[in-house]
Amino acid sequence: MIYDYIVVGSGMGGIAAGLNLASNDKKVLILEKNSLPGGLVTTFKRGRFEFDTTLHTLANYGDEEITGDLKKILDKWEIDVPTVRIPLDIEIKEVSSKKDFIIKGEAEDIIVQLEEEYPGSMEKLKKLLKIVKEIHEALKVLLDKGKVEENEYPNFYKFVDLMAIDGLNLLGLKREVINKLSFVWLNLGSPLNKLSFIDYAEYMYKLIFKKEVVLTCKSLEFVLNMINKYQSMGGKILYNSNVIEVTKENNLMILKTEDGLIYKAKEVVFDVSKRYVFKELIKDAAKDIKKLENARTIGANGVIVYLGLNKSYQELGLKHHKYLLVDNLSSDINVKYMMNKNHNTIMGIVPNVVNIDASPKNTTILVLEKMFFKDIFKNINKYDYQKFKEDMAKEMINSFEENLGIDITEYIEEIEIATPFTIERYTNNINGSWFGYMRKGYDNSINRILAYPDEVMDKISFVGGSSLFASGVDNAFYSGIYVTQDKLNREVKHG
Ligand SMILES: Cc1cc2nc3c(=O)[nH]c(=O)nc-3n(C[C@H](O)[C@H](O)[C@H](O)COP(=O)(O)OP(=O)(O)OC[C@H]3O[C@@H](n4cnc5c(N)ncnc54)[C@H](O)[C@@H]3O)c2cc1C
Repeated sequence: MIYDYIVVGSGMGGIAAGLNLASNDKKVLILEKNSLPGGLVTTFKRGRFEFDTTLHTLANYGDEEITGDLKKILDKWEIDVPTVRIPLDIEIKEVSSKKDFIIKGEAEDIIVQLEEEYPGSMEKLKKLLKIVKEIHEALKVLLDKGKVEENEYPNFYKFVDLMAIDGLNLLGLKREVINKLSFVWLNLGSPLNKLSFIDYAEYMYKLIFKKEVVLTCKSLEFVLNMINKYQSMGGKILYNSNVIEVTKENNLMILKTEDGLIYKAKEVVFDVSKRYVFKELIKDAAKDIKKLENARTIGANGVIVYLGLNKSYQELGLKHHKYLLVDNLSSDINVKYMMNKNHNTIMGIVPNVVNIDASPKNTTILVLEKMFFKDIFKNINKYDYQKFKEDMAKEMINSFEENLGIDITEYIEEIEIATPFTIERYTNNINGSWFGYMRKGYDNSINRILAYPDEVMDKISFVGGSSLFASGVDNAFYSGIYVTQDKLNREVKHG
């Protein structure tokens, strides 16, 4: 059997690619090395708790009132995603100064709150919103037409070459206001002096205009709904199928799996980074391609501690959906702390606050995430690994308890720790990166989009968090649609 397309990996990008190709009547096979689909977006059980691994909030989805692009695509395929729209609700504490503040509500509430604290901010923030919207529209035009007219989108041209911090300074916002608005940099994986203003603006656009939602089902259910739809359109998926080699023979792509089976296709779509593919799967790739890939920076990795607590979140004193501890509110300073093992930047997520059914009655799930901008796990030998990760988890729990005055330890019923090794083993993301390639300097979304037509390769393409639109469930998913649609359009054009 010769498939039109084989997709390697069933993460968000791979599933989207499969859906789009199957709905266009292509013969598609997804080969997935794990026994479950979803990649980083999955669920695991410990005792009476069912933990969602990474998908805590979903961007660009919205609801009936404010419909995001992701919802539009999933609605088209009648893929049901039970969600609830949530306002921002995060307590942020700067450990060095012991100062804390809460960001709660819709964008409009937050602007009013900032104006009260820092009079004169409102006009500048409104201007920021206007620019964010204009940049979003310009990006859409760029994706559709390949270029943007300066007279129609002047702010796009004004801000396109700026880093986020420079753009925010240009608007005349006070440093304190910038710092308070800047918690999002951790979700993008780059400090504001390395992140392009366009990437910052696009994230803000989704946050402000499309709002965030949380799933009211488990992540795996969400993923399986998509896989069921894919299969109902004729798509095939094989699990426990680890692709170990990809070669080209007589104009066909030949994929070999670990169990010795061979699959053939006219085209292959990889839901893994180019770095991994050219290192492990296509070993004879041209040297200049490898060189280009190696010049990019692999994003931060980290440790995730999943806690099942035997008390309700109200009894524990957890009031917010998210908590963020930072050593320093300024991202460029804070990132330096995050190059060492002993920093205090920890994100805590309490799904129960927004979804009462996240865990059984009178229990709470708390997920603690700690990110590193240096591969601190690199030199740990296998004999020290277990102790290293357990000590790290204890330090994270202690820091959370001490800095927020909330007791956790005595209520722990279940605990699981994921390290960069866990992520790498499960997804093949290099160094267990949380973000694929870092959004940084020249490697920002504009340059990725502009370079895309020149980087299209014969018979292979790349989707997912390491590809065109970078990480995030919505971005990874959309890359799967965009890249496969581009391939399909090229097929039509070339007959
Ligand atoms: C800690 C953390 C928190 C996050 N929180 C959020 C959040 O709240 N909201 C959000 O939108 N995003 C979040 N993200 C990001 C989001 O999860 C990812 O960007 C997205 O899921 C990546 O999808 P992907 O398509 O790149 O595939 P991946 O999830 O990387 O999956 C790749 C798939 O390919 C398979 N595969 C790899 N190699 C092979 C091979 N050789 N043969 C066969 N199969 C193979 C893997 O098994 C895997 O299933 C978070 C990420 C992390 C790490």
